[in-house]
Amino acid sequence: MRFPLALAVKIARHIIKHKILRTPRFALVLQLEPLHTCNLTCTGCGRIREYSTSLKDMMTLEDCLSSAQECGAPMVSICGGEPLIYTKIEELVAGLLAQGRIVYICTNGMFMRKKLKDYLASIYSPGIEPTIARLLSEKLISDKDAAIIRKGKHDGHPAIKPSKWLYWNVHIDGLEYTHDLIVEREGVFKECVEAVRMAKLLGYQVATNTTVYKETDVKEIEQMFQFFSSLEVDGHTISPGYDYDAAKKDMATRLGRKPEDFFLTRAMTIQKFAKIQEWGERFTIFGTPVYQEFLAGKRELTCTAWAIPTRNVKGWKAPCYLMTEGHYPRYQEMLDQVDWNKYGVVNGVARDPRCENCMVHCGYDPSGALGTNYQRGDNWKNIRYNFAARPKPYAAGRQVNAFNGVSVGKGHLAEAKAAINPGLAGSKSAFQNNGHNDAASGACGSGDTSQRDDLLAKVRAAKKV
Ligand code: SF4
Ligand code: SF4
Repeated sequence: MRFPLALAVKIARHIIKHKILRTPRFALVLQLEPLHTCNLTCTGCGRIREYSTSLKDMMTLEDCLSSAQECGAPMVSICGGEPLIYTKIEELVAGLLAQGRIVYICTNGMFMRKKLKDYLASIYSPGIEPTIARLLSEKLISDKDAAIIRKGKHDGHPAIKPSKWLYWNVHIDGLEYTHDLIVEREGVFKECVEAVRMAKLLGYQVATNTTVYKETDVKEIEQMFQFFSSLEVDGHTISPGYDYDAAKKDMATRLGRKPEDFFLTRAMTIQKFAKIQEWGERFTIFGTPVYQEFLAGKRELTCTAWAIPTRNVKGWKAPCYLMTEGHYPRYQEMLDQVDWNKYGVVNGVARDPRCENCMVHCGYDPSGALGTNYQRGDNWKNIRYNFAARPKPYAAGRQVNAFNGVSVGKGHLAEAKAAINPGLAGSKSAFQNNGHNDAASGACGSGDTSQRDDLLAKVRAAKKV
């Protein structure tokens, strides 16, 4: 099965229960952002810019847990910011699992091995020496790490343990060169790969989380799936990035510039995702086949942003993960007070101009599961996709030239800086924050695509020269 049976049953029961109760709107996945602080400053990240004035704020553990209870979503995606910086992340994961939820930890991977070592320390006994020896031989831990693990864990926090209800969801936007460029730090891709390998070796479930941008090379995304499939990851989430900045729309109207000059339009998304269904057959892509058909431009769906609500330090973010019209203190209050008929695209017409080009998973993936725009056979299609045998790991993926950046000695961030602005000082960010600090920017792995698009386009152009 693509998604474990118990988890699929849990989600199906939740949907059926609300269908029977005729609940008009309900949550399927909670995007929980306990904090917006991050150890990285990725090009174009909306979260660290939109919430730049509250980066030091954190939700309390009690708030986090009660938010999950309040909306009742069977799945919780803990994101941010970088959730592994959250001081009570272990308690949060344990609390959500105790509530019976499926938990995704959406991480940039940089602190993941630390948490895995913590786990090993928490269960240390001479019986795990063979595991330690294997990790040492594969250079996933150092001798110093092994010595610390052998001392056991005494910090009073629980550890994040492997569970069939838990996934590490690691942010990867390309192979080494591209990924490190986007996250603006060399070595991040390599660290992610090591964290994924170590987590798999310890029995955790791991998924990758990828956003496709205007300049994303789809061949590279396919190679990325091949490579991570060879590491036996348990699944992949993939979504189009999207910048709906109304100002750009305005530029198109007033200055006559074409929208495709500066953001990912629906047509471009469809082009990029033309092979999504084929990928779904070859790799364990999470999400419904109905959503995949939508991404491939084969059908319409109606936005159900209320099904993937975002809760953060300011409250329940409305109307969606990308757009901010306001924050509400309660989920039900948000459901009741937002005029949901103002958003999305219906029969090809955008109800809100900012929604026109949006096809992101947080608006439309639940639509595929909830049966909006239902077509005969959709339920069977969804069931068959999930219950079909999981695609086998792609062993040949080990041959992919995944380490094509810093590992082969390219100082590619310097190259990127030079491509963008030859005059930039070496210590500056590869992409300068140009004051584009609006609420239209998206989140970790989604949202404002223009900065990344520009960056990748300029670097490619400079390389050609
Ligand atoms: S269509 Fe996209 S931008 Fe518009 S409300 Fe839905 S998720 Fe948000
Ligand atoms: S995109 Fe994610 S990892 Fe990157 S700076 Fe933003 S929150 Fe951090």
